[in-house]
Amino acid sequence: MKKISIVVPMYNEEEMAPLFFETIDKILSGIQNYEFELVITNDGSRDKTLEILKEELQKRNNLVVVDLSRNWGHESAVRAGLINCSGDAAIIMDADLQDPPELIPTLIETWEQGYDVVNAKRSSRDKDSSFKKETAGIYYKVLNKLSGKIKIPQNVANFRIISRRVIDEVNALPEKERVFRIEVPFVGFKTTEVLFARPERAKGETKYPLKAMVNLAIESVTVASVVPLRIPAYLGIVLSSFSICSFITELVFFILNLCHVTSINNVAMWGWLIINFVLLLSGIILACIGLMGVYLGTITNEVRSRPNVIVKEVLKK
Ligand code: UDP
Ligand code: MG
Repeated sequence: MKKISIVVPMYNEEEMAPLFFETIDKILSGIQNYEFELVITNDGSRDKTLEILKEELQKRNNLVVVDLSRNWGHESAVRAGLINCSGDAAIIMDADLQDPPELIPTLIETWEQGYDVVNAKRSSRDKDSSFKKETAGIYYKVLNKLSGKIKIPQNVANFRIISRRVIDEVNALPEKERVFRIEVPFVGFKTTEVLFARPERAKGETKYPLKAMVNLAIESVTVASVVPLRIPAYLGIVLSSFSICSFITELVFFILNLCHVTSINNVAMWGWLIINFVLLLSGIILACIGLMGVYLGTITNEVRSRPNVIVKEVLKK
């Protein structure tokens, strides 16, 4: 019998956890001929999530609880789950039922048709605020422009089923900065998608503040591509051509002045022009240095080679 792992990160989900188990049990009991394993990462929750998970451990044989040493963040929690899952395939989903378990049978059926990756794609973003809709649109557009041959699917978060060979390839990636939704298209293999409507969070609050979203966006760019690093070079070429032209013009005026052919007396105009130009130039230089800084930060993290997640213990029956 094939085994499917359901990999779920949980951070302060005491409100959600009981409802999650209830819903997932209902769905999984309706699927025949598969063995299921629930791999739940407790991402340093400060509420009763771990206690609830430990209680569940007493009740069931199919649960693995990966307890992290502290709150490491969504990406690390998913990674720890994937490292500790043993299924022939893994379904990655959020605990808040926004990735509806009702889609699990469809994901498995499509995987059985010979796909290594079946992405669950949001059919619409009706329930999102217009801010989230807009920023998500820009996020996926920019990523796809930058990522070259890797095709990053739009409106697909972590919810998907991946085969054992994709799990192994993703787990084997050496980098410390992780963005799961980019790693899966990066490793490749036969991929398709199924559509679903994303409901609102069943209980509790989002654990993804704006700051975490911005961090994810920046990390996604640096993980997806080094193309932005070329922007300063292009800008440099344009600006140097510009400065060569202005230098030559200045030289010509200087010589003409010397020869008393012309005299430039509108000093103020020239002054403003130069100040504007210098301001523009400093802005561009700062932006370029900033961009280098972002990548330098990534490189520093990679060179440091610190672990991106530490598991305190793995609990199972
Ligand atoms: N999560 C986590 N660690 C964190 C933040 C979130 O493991 O530091 C989990 C959370 O418990 C949930 C999933 O990641 O299962 C997605 O979080 P959430 O639903 O709050 O994000 P949103 O859907 O609002 O983007
Ligand atoms: Mg959610």
